[in-house]
Amino acid sequence: MIKQKTKDALKQIVGEESFSDQVIDLVAFATDASEYKNRPDCAVWVTSTEQVAAIMKLANQDLFPVVPRGAGTSLAGLTVPAEGGLVMDLGRMDKIIKISLNDRLVVVQPGVVYADLDKKLTPLGFFFPPDPASGMVATLGGNVATNAGGIRGAKYGTTRDYVLALEVVLPSGEVLHAGSQCIKSSSGYDLARMFVGSEGTLGVITEITLKINPKPTETATAMATFPTLEDAGRAVTQIVSSGVLPSVLEIMDRLTIKAINENTDLGLPDVEAVLLTETDGYTAEEAAFQIERIMGLFKANNATSVQMATDPEEAAALWAARKSVYSVLTRLNNTVAVEDLAVPLSKVADTLKIIEEVGAKYGLQLPTVGHVGDGNLHPGIAYDRTDPEQAKVVHAAASELLERVTAIGGTLTGEHGIGMSKAPHMHMEHDAVSMKTMRSLKKLFDPNNILNPGKMALES
Ligand SMILES: Cc1cc2nc3c(=O)[nH]c(=O)nc-3n(C[C@H](O)[C@H](O)[C@H](O)COP(=O)(O)OP(=O)(O)OC[C@H]3O[C@@H](n4cnc5c(N)ncnc54)[C@H](O)[C@@H]3O)c2cc1C
Repeated sequence: MIKQKTKDALKQIVGEESFSDQVIDLVAFATDASEYKNRPDCAVWVTSTEQVAAIMKLANQDLFPVVPRGAGTSLAGLTVPAEGGLVMDLGRMDKIIKISLNDRLVVVQPGVVYADLDKKLTPLGFFFPPDPASGMVATLGGNVATNAGGIRGAKYGTTRDYVLALEVVLPSGEVLHAGSQCIKSSSGYDLARMFVGSEGTLGVITEITLKINPKPTETATAMATFPTLEDAGRAVTQIVSSGVLPSVLEIMDRLTIKAINENTDLGLPDVEAVLLTETDGYTAEEAAFQIERIMGLFKANNATSVQMATDPEEAAALWAARKSVYSVLTRLNNTVAVEDLAVPLSKVADTLKIIEEVGAKYGLQLPTVGHVGDGNLHPGIAYDRTDPEQAKVVHAAASELLERVTAIGGTLTGEHGIGMSKAPHMHMEHDAVSMKTMRSLKKLFDPNNILNPGKMALES
């Protein structure tokens, strides 16, 4: 519980109007896009590195938890104040400080929304590729702290691949400058990347330098339907090893198609799997050459239909189904648990089978979509959270899924992070030495366990 004296000190740092302990704010900050909830004691909206540093010094002196928060779109409980304390909202640190095409980089504050940066870069012919589906609201600070990815991961990688430098306020209140504005560097430990995916547990990111890419000007889009999951899985394996790298390769399984058809008028064919793909390049011929190769592999793997978009409207129509998935699932029940498995590319078909088997064993429907081009699959379980029995079954099924997927070399999370939802499963993927090393790092940076406690199984 944060004492009144400490609250007064926080008001001194950020100003009366940027502090709140009103119930309406505490309820809003108690959760994110996950099923987890716990109220903080108070919240602040920070506007400068100096304010963040002063708050961290105070937190270490008065010993209260601090949870950095971007847009609060985490799907795994990363942003939930598990042990109460202070929520530090970084959304007002939203300046794009520099765009330098000559250096191929941007410097931004952490509260800049992904889409706002994209709007500035597109007319200049550049982009920051990760493109999470939540990019209209999620912040770049949140993207870095979760190593966010998106549908272009197979070709362009994830946030980690673009972070050149970070300014980070450490739990002690000291300001660390890690990395440089050089596109390449082998100088010392890669401290900047250590904060990528650290989920606000090691430091508060207050400035970000990102590498940017020239944006391809042409794309081609195609969709194929498959009679079996095995056919679709084999097509994926052959595409990724064919020498052509699609910018997007997505799968939707039978249960997803059924859910879309029952809740929209998109009228997808009743098949076991759909693959959607996009290729890109700097000329129409470059994009077309690649899409034709891929369509050939669709056909060679028993696709029952292969359709290529001939103009942007047709391409948008093909993508409409994929884009509708999350909203369709949220209509099925009051909670959707979205899993975020990632597996080696050769294991995609095996993983789809595992998902089907686990669903059947627990009597659950696990509609699955995924960025199969980079092995990232999202089975979604729509269920009634208010029914404790249902919740128990869902959690048991999720646990078995993670156990089986990590046993074949997969990872607990491809892009959403560990947070609260995957913390109990860390041991499945990370052995005792890895866990000991992660806990030692946390202790080194944050000996009083101030920053975002209760996450990533760092305390046991
Ligand atoms: C509909 C929907 C679709 C999504 N699609 C994708 C997707 O395609 N790809 C993907 O990767 N994710 C996706 N997500 C998950 C989520 O949007 C991402 O994890 C995103 O990167 C979180 O950004 P945020 O600003 O909302 O961060 P928050 O949720 O506020 O925070 C996430 C974590 O980052 C930490 N953090 C935030 N800012 C800072 C900072 N400045 N310094 C230190 N730590 C900080 C927080 O403490 C927390 O641990 C989706 C979520 C939703 C609801």
